Amino acid sequence: MISSTPQTDTVHVIGGGLAGSEAAWQVANAGVRVVLHEMRPLRMTEAHRTEGLAELVCSNSFRSDDAANNAVGLLHAEMRRLGSLIMRCADANQVPAGGALAVDRDGFSAAVTRALHDHPLIEIDRTEIAGLPPAEWANVIVATGPLTSAPLADAIRELTDENALAFFDAIAPIVHKDSIDMSVAWFQSRYDKVGPGGTGADYINCPMTKEQYDAFVAALLAGEKVDFKDWETNTPYFDGCLPVEVMAERGHETLRHGPMKPVGLTNPHNPTVKAYAIVQLRQDNKLGTLYNIVGFQTKLNYGAQQRVFRTIPGLENAEFARLGGLHRNTFLNSPKLLDGQLRLRAQPRLRFAGQMTGCEGYVESASIGLIAGLYAAANARAQSLEPPPVTTALGSLLGHITGGHIETIEAGTRSFQPMNINFRWHKAARQREDGGKKAGAQRPGAGRSRSLDRRSPARSGGGVTP
Ligand SMILES: Cc1cc2nc3c(=O)[nH]c(=O)nc-3n(C[C@H](O)[C@H](O)[C@H](O)COP(=O)(O)OP(=O)(O)OC[C@H]3O[C@@H](n4cnc5c(N)ncnc54)[C@H](O)[C@@H]3O)c2cc1C
Repeated sequence: MISSTPQTDTVHVIGGGLAGSEAAWQVANAGVRVVLHEMRPLRMTEAHRTEGLAELVCSNSFRSDDAANNAVGLLHAEMRRLGSLIMRCADANQVPAGGALAVDRDGFSAAVTRALHDHPLIEIDRTEIAGLPPAEWANVIVATGPLTSAPLADAIRELTDENALAFFDAIAPIVHKDSIDMSVAWFQSRYDKVGPGGTGADYINCPMTKEQYDAFVAALLAGEKVDFKDWETNTPYFDGCLPVEVMAERGHETLRHGPMKPVGLTNPHNPTVKAYAIVQLRQDNKLGTLYNIVGFQTKLNYGAQQRVFRTIPGLENAEFARLGGLHRNTFLNSPKLLDGQLRLRAQPRLRFAGQMTGCEGYVESASIGLIAGLYAAANARAQSLEPPPVTTALGSLLGHITGGHIETIEAGTRSFQPMNINFRWHKAARQREDGGKKAGAQRPGAGRSRSLDRRSPARSGGGVTP
């Protein structure tokens, strides 16, 4: 596989996660040969459990599918229009989840793996790339994610002369449904929202009285945590994925205004009494036998998790299919290091995609894989590719990564932080496009859906154009 002559006609994708799988698919569908290098199962990460491509390591949710009112929903819609493999397989494996698009994780990963395996232009190579890719690989996409193996991460750090910033995310536990006491818990989606593939009664809800909530918060605070290693002690958390006990530390009522908010839900076992707090569990597999505790990512040790989470009414006898855990994350200071086409300025043959570029989440990572794949294919075919307009969700996300960020708060890599997609980038871009006119004059949904109606990227010829 490693040849001594430059391989301009082959794209090497390193990492078969959400971004790498999507990138490989896009490159191959553009008629360019791809070698997809994935180190699992020979070498596993701290979070992956299978050898499947596009494995979802924690939640099984792709979040809102509402293209008119939610930025990630708009990104779903744009990706579908661009022929996304990840969205196709997600749609084919969805499980009920209220207004969200959630999937059977094994069915989803198997579908992605099969599609890539069956593609005549894709070769899957199960090896770790333990250092910089060979010099003769002229067109490379690095999509090795938040848990990039150490030799490659070190080589990239050395090449960029930057300290790649590590921080923590945590995983939520998963419970066997038949161990949940449904004489206490009940099925209902918040505000009975039906959503894609849902029924309006997709979540399992566990109610708490004030006394139970007070005791639960105290138990979280007192629970034994996983010890930090020396190098980890100053590593910050990503605010969008805070461990449940860290949220509790921020204030006694914080959880009641976050994952345990008791609004839009009525307990049929006790309809006249309003719960003080409610824990929700979301279906995790198509069979409906597994449910994950929403927002309960944690760094409590295993013993403390079982003890504390079994104090939740309805979960007294919960059997855990998987307990929560802690992991590191690694990302580049992309606005400084990458050009507008996601290429490393220091070595443009290396293009980056996925969470390493500083986006956050399955969908965002896959979408950056998608655009990286289109750019790499265009390069291989000596074509140019117009970037997606900044008024699209994809364009605004790409803009945030490669240029939208300004170091005003704090200099250095800490200033650029991973983020989920949001409409603020969009709004700012629209305002720029409208010559400074205030976009806020429109009704909220109108402004947002406009970018889908008028500006969604659709593949046209060799480019991503409105
Ligand atoms: C523990 C944890 C919990 C998370 N929870 C959520 C969540 O609930 N919801 C959400 O939306 N996002 C979550 N995320 C983020 C989400 O996992 C990422 O956004 C997404 O998976 C990133 O996609 P990616 O393709 O960049 O990386 P990944 O999906 O991680 O794929 C990277 C791939 O590269 C492979 N690899 C690594 N190094 C090498 C190497 N040197 N050579 C060859 N292969 C290599 C890995 O095995 C892996 O398959 C979580 C992340 C972690 C780690």
